[in-house]
Amino acid sequence: MGNFTKSNRGLRSSMLKQQNKRKDTSVRPRKQFAQHWLRSEKVLEEIITAAELTKSDRVLEIGPGTGILTRRLLPEVESLVSIEIDRDLCKNLVKSLGDKDNFLLLQGDFLTLDLEHNLSSFSQFQQPNKVVANIPYNITGAIIEKLLGTISQPAKTSYESIVLLIQKEVGERLTATPNCKAYGALSIKVQYLADCQWICQVPAKAFYPKPKVDSAVVKLIPKIRETPVQDPQLLENLIKLGFSSRRKMLRNNFKSIIETDRLTEILKKLNLNPQCRAENISLDNWIQLANLLREES
Ligand code: SAH
Repeated sequence: MGNFTKSNRGLRSSMLKQQNKRKDTSVRPRKQFAQHWLRSEKVLEEIITAAELTKSDRVLEIGPGTGILTRRLLPEVESLVSIEIDRDLCKNLVKSLGDKDNFLLLQGDFLTLDLEHNLSSFSQFQQPNKVVANIPYNITGAIIEKLLGTISQPAKTSYESIVLLIQKEVGERLTATPNCKAYGALSIKVQYLADCQWICQVPAKAFYPKPKVDSAVVKLIPKIRETPVQDPQLLENLIKLGFSSRRKMLRNNFKSIIETDRLTEILKKLNLNPQCRAENISLDNWIQLANLLREES
């Protein structure tokens, strides 16, 4: 008998008590939790292939829902911890997957849950090395930030890889390169912390209920920069300011912090056009720009 079964006796009994108080415990999708059930085998396969799972992987899943991805992950990995906010869904997951030794279900909000603390008594599930999830789209930014951290405060724990099913438009922004419409502050902030790969596009009809937007699978591979930016906070501020008016030239967006002539000199050093906009500047150049501006000040 695994930890999961033991741990879920408590969960199960507390849930049954709750269930008795309510009549309707069906799994009708709830808008409030951005619930859209994946129903495409093809997309499931794409996700599993992208995750490159091995029998020694300890995987973290956010928002298992009815468990379509959960079921597909379990036989492939050493252990799987899934975090689901919806109590009724948890109750059903306990019923259908409660006997799996390598499965641990935590009921709660991923954004506020202290994962390390919650896993401290479950050695088999500690320190997951991969994330594989079809996440709630309304909190995509916050989930990515919790997984990767920020430029000035990178996450303490680093995952080998993070495969996510997300809104297509966000996927495009995460994987965008300079001079593209989708390239913006999010692209730079996330690409500073992880290599971002586009895996595939997913049509809205792959879900029930059908969301208003198309989706995409992306893979993020967190990395430690050999030469990190000297002043991470400055880089964050520059990115924010640089993209504050997207159509304006950088020198106009930066007017409050640096004289145009001085900025032109710095841009020349980086082989950048003095009339460039934030969207024309590569991540490496953003880092160098922040370093040069720091030396200047
Ligand atoms: N992975 C499932 C469900 C995706 S829908 C599938 O592929 O079909 C998103 C899921 O995330 C829902 O089950 C929803 O209840 C859950 N969820 C929403 N907000 C959450 C949060 N803050 N923490 C954990 N799970 C959350």
